[in-house]
Amino acid sequence: MKDTVVSQANPQPYHRPSQVAIGQAPIGIDIGGTKINAAVVKTNPQTGEDELLSMMNSPTPEDSETFLNTLVDMIQRLHAEHQVSGVGISTAGVVDSIHGRILGSTGNMPALKNLCNLKELLEAKIGLPVHMENDANAAAYGEWRTGAAKGAQNMFAITLGTGVGMGIVFNGQMYRGSHFYAGEGGHIAIGHKRERKCTCGRWDCWEAYASGTGLQTTAELIVEAAPETAQQEFKSKYCENGVVTTYAVIAAWKNDNHIGVQIMDEWHNHIAVGLSSLINVMDPDMIVVGGGLAQFVDFNLLLERTRERSMSHAFKLVPAALGNHAGIVGAAYLAIESQPEPLT
Ligand SMILES: [Zn+2]
Repeated sequence: MKDTVVSQANPQPYHRPSQVAIGQAPIGIDIGGTKINAAVVKTNPQTGEDELLSMMNSPTPEDSETFLNTLVDMIQRLHAEHQVSGVGISTAGVVDSIHGRILGSTGNMPALKNLCNLKELLEAKIGLPVHMENDANAAAYGEWRTGAAKGAQNMFAITLGTGVGMGIVFNGQMYRGSHFYAGEGGHIAIGHKRERKCTCGRWDCWEAYASGTGLQTTAELIVEAAPETAQQEFKSKYCENGVVTTYAVIAAWKNDNHIGVQIMDEWHNHIAVGLSSLINVMDPDMIVVGGGLAQFVDFNLLLERTRERSMSHAFKLVPAALGNHAGIVGAAYLAIESQPEPLT
C-alpha cells in the first residue's frame, strides 16, 4: 500500500467563475417522477449568490403530448418574464447530452419513452438552445458549480434515496464516459454471492445495500436474527403492526435502541464500502452526499468507515448544500456552458 498522501497531487484547483454572467439567464428544469420544477437561475450582483427566480412546478404528465406542451408552456412563461439565454433539462435515464437524446430507461416516466428527441422537439417550438443532462449528473454539477463542492478539481456526488445516484466532475468538467454511462456508481457490485437483487436486474449492486430499499432489507435481516426478547421490544416500541420500516429504524436509532444502532451501523458500513471503492478509482478531493436519506447519515462515522477502506485520506466528505435545487442549478449552468463560445 502506498503511503497516505495528505496533500493534493495537483495543487491548482480548477476554477470557473461560480456565477451566471451578467446578461445570461438560463432556465433550469428538473423532471421528476411526480413533479416538474423549473426556474430561471440568476446571480444577484449585490450578494454574488445564485437565486432561483419565478420558481414554478407542475405534476409530471403521463402522456407525451401533454408532457411536451407542459414544458413548452413553462419555458414560455419564464421567457416572457426574463430574458432567457438557454434551457437546461435534468431528467432520469441515460442521456446523450451531446445530441440531447435519452438513451436508457426513464423509470417511472412513461411520457419520456416517446420523447427521446426532446431537445430537438423543444428547440423547434421555443427557439432557444436546450441542453439535456442525466439528473444525477446535473445535481453533481450544481453542487460543484455553486454548492458544497465549489472549487474542487475532482469530485463526485451521490444521492441516497430509493436508489443511489451518482455524478462525476473530473478535472473541472462533467465526466460522462465514452457512451454516457459513467457515474452509474449505484450499480458497482459490492458482493458476488447473489444475496440481493438490484432494480437493474443484476445482483449485489451497491444500491441494493446503501439506498432506502437497501436499508429496509438490512433492517429486516437484523431484526429477524435478533434474540426473541430484543426483537419483540423493538417491534412493540417502534413498529406499527410489527412492520419493520426505515422510519422505525431511525426512531429506534435516535433512542439508542440496540437493534436500531446495529442496523444504522451496518448501513454506514454499506455506504462506506461503495464510497471507498469509488475513491480508490478516482482519488477525488471532495465527495458530496445528498438525497432524502442524507439527513440520517452520521458524517463523522461515515468518514471514519470510509477512511478505513480508502488508499487516500485527503478527501473531504460533505453533505449536499443545494437540496432539491441542485438539479435545476446544474442543468442551468450546463445550458450556458454547453453553448459554443460567441465569435469575436
Ligand atoms: Zn444495479
